[in-house]
Amino acid sequence: MRRDGPWLRAAQGAGLLSPSGELQGTVFGEMSELARTTGAVNLGQGFPDYSGPRELLDEAIEAISRGENQYPPPRGTADLRLAIAEHQLRFRGVTLDPDREVLVTVGATEALAATVLGLVEPGEDIVVFEPHYDAYGALAHLADARLVTVPLRWPAFRPDHDELRRAVTDRTRLIIVNTPHNPTGAVLPRETLELVVELAARHGAIIVTDEVYEHLAFDGEHIALASLPGAASRTLSIGSGGKTFSVTGWKVGWVTGPATLIEAVLAVKQYLSYVGSGPFQPAVAVGLRLPEARFEEERDRLRAKRDLLVTALRSRGLETATPSAGYFAIADAASIGYTDATELCRRLPGEIGVVGIPVAALCTPERQGDYRSLVRFAFCKSDAVLEEGMRRLDRLGELSR
Ligand code: PMP
Ligand code: GLN
Repeated sequence: MRRDGPWLRAAQGAGLLSPSGELQGTVFGEMSELARTTGAVNLGQGFPDYSGPRELLDEAIEAISRGENQYPPPRGTADLRLAIAEHQLRFRGVTLDPDREVLVTVGATEALAATVLGLVEPGEDIVVFEPHYDAYGALAHLADARLVTVPLRWPAFRPDHDELRRAVTDRTRLIIVNTPHNPTGAVLPRETLELVVELAARHGAIIVTDEVYEHLAFDGEHIALASLPGAASRTLSIGSGGKTFSVTGWKVGWVTGPATLIEAVLAVKQYLSYVGSGPFQPAVAVGLRLPEARFEEERDRLRAKRDLLVTALRSRGLETATPSAGYFAIADAASIGYTDATELCRRLPGEIGVVGIPVAALCTPERQGDYRSLVRFAFCKSDAVLEEGMRRLDRLGELSR
């Protein structure tokens, strides 16, 4: 049997081939599986261990009971598209036509996939910040595009604007911006976002802004890229009901932007999943219409968890960057004598009972060395779980080096 094809490029692009050529799962799946088999505290994959607001859960149950269990419309239910448009206007000042400029997807992941596959020709460049969410690398390779990365360096994780300028050229088709950023927790500053808009305009590129953590900026203001002058006509913005409302298994995402671009994304999306998550769509619409105070409450809850985790890691001798947003904090294992975080993260579940993600797994092979000793820990977990994880890390000193 042939063992080549786009899947192989995608797997290679995401670093999923073992040295002997076997396909491995994503680092998130692999680490969650290790947590299950060892009984370790899972501070790896970014999913909350609690459910979202009661109103959403009730609406999902009611939608199922009402019989909303068949295919929803290809672009998403009219009411959810309206709720997405209202939410963008309320929080970001961006006006959207819910019928032509909003598309509901199976999670932000499908929005990203359909966007890359629908808009990028083989050989074109996709510019991303690094480290990056693993799907960007895999999708770039699936599209036979070239991934060009701009590093966010430990510990401030601020982009160098000259490096960004050099990365964007006439070959660039997409600039994927992720703010707030996974895994670093950086909230990209206005000047960087303005530079992205300027470079995209100069080189005729499309901007894709992955804002799944938009409501989780603890320090600094999250700026929606599409709200900047000159951005809207060339920007696709991606959001996630799963991340916004702590229901990651529901897989309701969306992409918004100019009607012609949305049409291109829809053309691919309809042959990936066609539609999805029927009864969860009305539930996410309820969430998007919650009062502002509820979004703030959730953000403040997460901020307290961030503080708990960062303080605990530091008190165990681990140098830790304070994330400005999101679900994750990054610690440098070199500060306690481990230079290879990938090896450390494979040992931690079995030997100490904690799961973390090696940041190098979220990097291109050429740059993995720069992130070799960094570990990402998720703090979107109940306080009891975080505290148990930290208790277990007290035994770090017992690990052989
Ligand atoms: N983008 C980023 C930056 C993420 O961290 C994730 C993971 N939740 C996604 C996209 C995918 O989101 P979803 O679960 O809605 O597919
Ligand atoms: N976004 C989540 C993370 O970064 C995981 C999503 C996934 O497993 N694909 O941990």
